[in-house]
Parts: sequence; C-alpha cells; structure tokens
Amino acid sequence: ANSATSKKVVLVTGGTGLVGSALRYVIENEPVGSPYGRQDHEEWVFLSSKECDLRDIEQTRKVFQKYSPDKVIHLAAKVGGLFANMSSQHTFLRDNLLMNDSVLQISHEVGVSKVVSCLSTCVFPDKVTYPLTEDKIHIGPPHSSNFGYSHAKRLIDVQNHAYHDQFGNQFTSVIPTNVFGPGDNYELHTAHVIPGLIHKCHMAKKNNTAFVVFGSGRPLRQFIYSRDLAKLFLWVLREYKDIDPVILSVAEHDEVTIKEVAEAIVEAMGFTGPVEYDTSKADGQYRKPASNDKLTRLMKESGSADFEFTPFKTALKDSVDWFLANYENGAR
Ligand code: NDP
Repeated sequence: ANSATSKKVVLVTGGTGLVGSALRYVIENEPVGSPYGRQDHEEWVFLSSKECDLRDIEQTRKVFQKYSPDKVIHLAAKVGGLFANMSSQHTFLRDNLLMNDSVLQISHEVGVSKVVSCLSTCVFPDKVTYPLTEDKIHIGPPHSSNFGYSHAKRLIDVQNHAYHDQFGNQFTSVIPTNVFGPGDNYELHTAHVIPGLIHKCHMAKKNNTAFVVFGSGRPLRQFIYSRDLAKLFLWVLREYKDIDPVILSVAEHDEVTIKEVAEAIVEAMGFTGPVEYDTSKADGQYRKPASNDKLTRLMKESGSADFEFTPFKTALKDSVDWFLANYENGAR
C-alpha cells in the first residue's frame, strides 16, 4: 500500500492498550524529527483487535500485506489479573502463543526489518536472587499463579533467537516493570495497584468514607510511567542492537512504597478524609527490584544519556487527571 511513497510504516500491535496509546501520544506530541518524535519518513499505524485478531495467522497476513510494515512494535497480548490467570492458564498460554507466532512468522515472511516485542517482569523465575537482570529469565520455573502467560512470554525470547540464528532476523524484546498512566484499566476488580487505588480514593471522596488501602503500605515497587516507557520503546526501536531482552525500568533506588503511592493519590485527588491500611489483607512480596543497568549503560553508549524519567508525582497527577476527565464518561 505504501510502495508508491518512500514512507516506512511502523506497525504497533496492541495499539489501543495502555502502552500503545502512550506510544501514540508521544509520536503525536513530540516534534517531528526529534529523538522521541516521528521521523519524517515514518508513518505510524496503531492496530486494534477489532481490525485484526492476531491469534489468526490469515488475518495477520492480510493486515501485514495491507500496511507493508518496515518495523513492528508488538504489544498485543492477553493480559489479566491474578484471578483471571489462575482460572484460565490454558487461554493465557494459547492466546499469547498464537498471537506471538502470527506476528513473528508474518514479520519474517514479509521482511520486517525489526520487531520489538514485550515481556514482563512477572515472567522471571519464582525463586530468584534480586535484583532481576536480563540473564535470569530462563533459570527456573515462573510463579505457578500465571505459568501459562509467563511461558508464552518467555518463548518470545526463544523465538527471537531462533529467527536470528536461522535467518538473521532482528527480532528483540523488552521487559517493562509495572506500567501506569492515562488510559489504564481502572475497573476495581481487575485493575493493577495504581489505577485501583485511584478509583478507590475517588469513591471514598465521593461517598465521604475512608480511603482503605489493602496491606501495610510497606511493600516497594518500581513503577514506570507509560509515556516514559513509550520513549524508551522508541530508543529500543532505533538504537538497540541485541536479540536478548532489555529491562525498561526506573533505577532500583527509585522504588516507591505503596504508602507513597496512596499519599500521592490523596494529594492529586485533594482527598481530605482518613486513609486506612487494612493489614488483614496480604502484602505480597516485600520487594522484587529489577536492575536498569543494561539500559542506562547502552543509552549512554548511544548518546542518549540525558533521558529523564518523569517525577513519580507528576506522572501520577496526569493519571488521576485522565481518570477524572474520562472514567465516568465511559472510558475502559
Ligand atoms: P492492554 O491490556 O492495555 O492492551 C492490550 C492490547 O492488546 C490491546 O490493544 C488489545 O486490543 C490487544 N489485543 C488483545 N488481544 C488481541 C488479539 N487477539 N488480537 C489483536 N490484538 C489483541 O495491555 P498493556 O498496554 O498494559 O500491555 C502492553 C504489553 O506490555 C503487553 O504485551 C503486556 O504483556 C506488557 N506489559 C504490561 C505491563 C503493565 O503493567 N501494563 C507490565 C509489563 C508488560 P483491543 O483493545 O483493541 O482489544
């Protein structure tokens, strides 16, 4: 479709999700030609499952023939919370296997020059020494609660190496830590911790009740703002040469406690009621830090050492503002 012009298409699967919509935002808002903006010769296409069910290799072939992508960012995945994973291991395994296989195989067939796919820190072994580093993914079984999802994701790395070994394809992957931002899933029963707490604080404010945070508030986590992650994806797309994955995260010393998250939400919401910690609820793991040493070393080597993460409170305020402006208008 684009052979008549010199435009090179970058196709984003999962273009409607949390990370995909952040990529779209960055591409549309950074100046054209700047390090994190659209390059002049690029045309970006953001795919939704409505346009193509990537579990179906024929539909995938058609959509790739339509756009003739030069590069692919593969974000589409079947993702879900603990309960959904535990009750449907086979669905999480198979849907992700099929999607990943279609995207990589068709990218290979049509000669895509680079694919960047997405793993997750929850694919690391259950028994592992911290901090997590890129070389530890395959050294032991993942946690049993989401083994279907985890094994499908780990296989992306295996596939990337097999395509590279046999055919020389530049297929690689990244490992983000906990992502949050505008357009997140704010449904109370399935939301991750930040969007879940934003929604709960909003309810507490509306109903004049206490804002109840599950657990002690002491566990530490590394959160990455979706729009920072989007910029790092652009760096990987343009500068990263390895087949092995790279962790995309804030530094280990930039972990925040759940209590700090709750307090930042209270401030951003202007909530003045009581905040309670329900210690009858489980805390989960105290910390599970990931190292971003490989990322910072390689960014420095490529001359991109000036990358700055958005301050946590600023990013959180953007997310709260998005929630307030959109959620009650029927956003996801
Ligand atoms: P979302 O759940 O927000 O979005 C998922 C995307 O995948 C949507 O665009 C959806 O399309 C698409 N999709 C799902 N099923 C299909 C299908 N059968 N065919 C085609 N497209 C499909 O995910 P995130 O943006 O949060 O995650 C993006 C990537 O990052 C995923 O690979 C995820 O595993 C990974 N990740 C996410 C983390 C997080 O904290 N959110 C942390 C670490 C990794 P539609 O909406 O149109 O149905």
